[in-house]
Amino acid sequence: MRGRQPALLLPELPHSSLQLHSAGSLHTTTPAPIMSTKVAVVTGSNKGIGLAIVRALCKQYQGDVYLTARDVTRGQEAVNSLASDGLKPKFHQLDINDLNSITTAAAYFKEKYGGVDVLINNAGIAFKGADTTPFPVQAEVTLKTNFFATRDMLTHFLPLIKAGGRVVNVSSFVGSRALNKCKPALQQRFRSEDITEEELVGLMEQFVEQAKSGEHEKGGWPDTAYGMSKTGLTTLSMIHARRLSKERPKDGILVNACCPGWVRTDMAGDKAPKSPEEGAITPVYLALLPAGATDPHGKFVSDKEVQPW
Ligand code: NDP
Repeated sequence: MRGRQPALLLPELPHSSLQLHSAGSLHTTTPAPIMSTKVAVVTGSNKGIGLAIVRALCKQYQGDVYLTARDVTRGQEAVNSLASDGLKPKFHQLDINDLNSITTAAAYFKEKYGGVDVLINNAGIAFKGADTTPFPVQAEVTLKTNFFATRDMLTHFLPLIKAGGRVVNVSSFVGSRALNKCKPALQQRFRSEDITEEELVGLMEQFVEQAKSGEHEKGGWPDTAYGMSKTGLTTLSMIHARRLSKERPKDGILVNACCPGWVRTDMAGDKAPKSPEEGAITPVYLALLPAGATDPHGKFVSDKEVQPW
C-alpha cells in the first residue's frame, strides 16, 4: 500500500448538503458548508512551533484557524492558553499516525468548509541525541511519523486544497545535510525532477529496511533517521508541487517545504537561538503568500529565502 501512487490530486466536489429523496423532494440533511469562510489547519499545534504558528495565524489570517492535536486534553489546554490572550482558534483532534483520525478530520473539513485553504504539516518527532533506543527502531519510528504519516496527511488533504491554497511542510535543514551525506546516486535521485512519489516511498522503505539489518551505511545512507525523514519530506513536497502544477495548473496552489530554524522547543531544547514565535515566521510567510503569487513553489525555504537543494 505504501508504494502505491495515489491519483488523488484532482479536487473533489464538496459533499452536497442536500439529498434527493425517493419522493423526489429535496431535504436539508446537514448544514451547508460555509464555503465563503477560509480555513487553515496546523498539525501538531498543541505546543512548540505549531502552537506559535496558530498564534500568528489567529492574528493575521482572515479565516478560521484550527489548532489540532493528537491528544484532545493537550489540545484543549493549548486552545485555552490562546483564549487567555484573546485569540480564538478552533480545535479538531488529529493524530497523523492514525489513518482513521486523518480521514475523519478530512471529512469534517470537506463537509464544513468544502475543503481547506491552508495546510501546515508541522507535526514531527525526534529522538534526543542521548537516547539509547537502537538505531533500527529510531529509523522505523521517526520515518513513520515524519515521512509516512505526513504523506498520509497529504494523500487525504491535497485533494481538498482549494484553488489559491497553500501547503507548507515543516521540514528541516538537517534533511539537506543528510542529503549531502547520501551516496551520489541517491543524491541524484532525490534532486531529480522526474522522481515519482512511488520511487521516493521505495527509497524511504529501503533506508528503514537497511537500517534494520545494520546495512544502511553500506547502502550509501547517512547515520541519521531524523535527517533522512526530512530529506524525504522535502523531496515529497517538490514532487507534489510538480504534480499539482501539471494536474491543476489554473488553481494557483503553492506547496513548499521549509526549515523553521533552530528553535527552543521540547524537541530542540532550551539552547536553541530562536523562540517558537521566530520559528513560526517562515512557515507563516509561506502559508500567507498573497493571492496570485506563483513562487516559491516546490522549494525548500528557510528565513523566507529559497535554499539550494
Ligand atoms: P515539539 O516536540 O515541541 O512539538 C511537536 C508537535 O508535534 C507536538 O504538538 C506533538 O504532539 C506533535 N506530534 C507528534 N507526533 C504527532 C502525531 N502523530 N500526530 C499529531 N501530532 C503529533 O517540536 P517542535 O515544535 O520543535 O517541532 C515542530 C516541527 O518543526 C517538527 O516537524 C520538527 O521536526 C520541525 N523542526 C524543528 C526544529 C527545532 O529546532 N525545534 C528545527 C527544524 C525542524 P504531542 O504534544 O502530543 O507530542
